[in-house]
Amino acid sequence: MVLRVAIQKSGRLNEDSMKLLKECGIDIANGVNKLRTEASNFPIEVYFLRDDDIPQYVEDGVADIGFVGENVVYEKNKKVEVVEQLGFGKCRLSIAVSRNEVYNDVSYLHGKRIATTYPVIVRKFMEEKGVNAEIHEISGSVEIAPGIGLADAICDLVSSGSTLFMNGLKEVETVLKSQAVLIKSSDLNEEKQRLLDKLLFRIKAVKRSKNNKYILLNAPNDKLSEIIGLLPGMKSPTVLPLAESGWSSVHSVLKESDFWEIIEKLKEAGAQGILVVPIEKMII
Ligand code: ATP
Ligand code: MG
Repeated sequence: MVLRVAIQKSGRLNEDSMKLLKECGIDIANGVNKLRTEASNFPIEVYFLRDDDIPQYVEDGVADIGFVGENVVYEKNKKVEVVEQLGFGKCRLSIAVSRNEVYNDVSYLHGKRIATTYPVIVRKFMEEKGVNAEIHEISGSVEIAPGIGLADAICDLVSSGSTLFMNGLKEVETVLKSQAVLIKSSDLNEEKQRLLDKLLFRIKAVKRSKNNKYILLNAPNDKLSEIIGLLPGMKSPTVLPLAESGWSSVHSVLKESDFWEIIEKLKEAGAQGILVVPIEKMII
């Protein structure tokens, strides 16, 4: 029994999807022109597909699970379950209009033509906002639609916004924030579910390690309690005596998001020689 995993064949999600499997200790030969490949050390088979097709393959049970953008999952609206956010492929689906337009709120879009490759998501958004807009589905190069008079606005994926800027557009509404997710078929048998749980355990450990840093610092003993109070640690910080009397070495784990703020406070509290190192895997 193997777990069949669908990932994007080429494009923005391919590399990070392969990297995640590798970080989970799964060795896969990257078959450039292959449709299918297997891992040598985990019962997994990888199918390389167009990202648009992944939800359908998973719904049909041709693949058991898939790595795909939330934007595609919601647009395709197939019977699949979102199991885990994967932390890469971050982008947003946004509405943009010509930079010269005066845009105050979503009512601007009333009666306007919106070009998009995401008609399902845009229609739902407009309904929720009570705006009656004309939705034009096109299959690509959405950003040029306003310039050639095909539409008054567009709805497209944005990460830095540079494509919009180059086309004389400005972003005015965020319709959806998206990242890559793991989806699964709704009827996995017990054995496949067990394989998925094993994979998920590893994915979570990898994700956690990316969100955390290991920190080591030296502290004068009279400042120890204040410094320890600033550090969460997995259970509590480790404190070891230094060879020089009156000093200790303190080890702990910090969330990447709290990192800079805590570092500043640690310095103010008298910490010295602060080292921060990446964590490869983190099991709690
Ligand atoms: P395919 O040939 O597989 O259909 P594609 O051209 O539809 O590929 P890509 O452009 O490779 O798709 O994007 C794949 C996914 O990457 C998107 O669906 C989205 O979830 C994510 N993504 C992240 N950042 C961006 C971005 N700036 N623009 C577009 N997609 C992005
Ligand atoms: Mg696609």
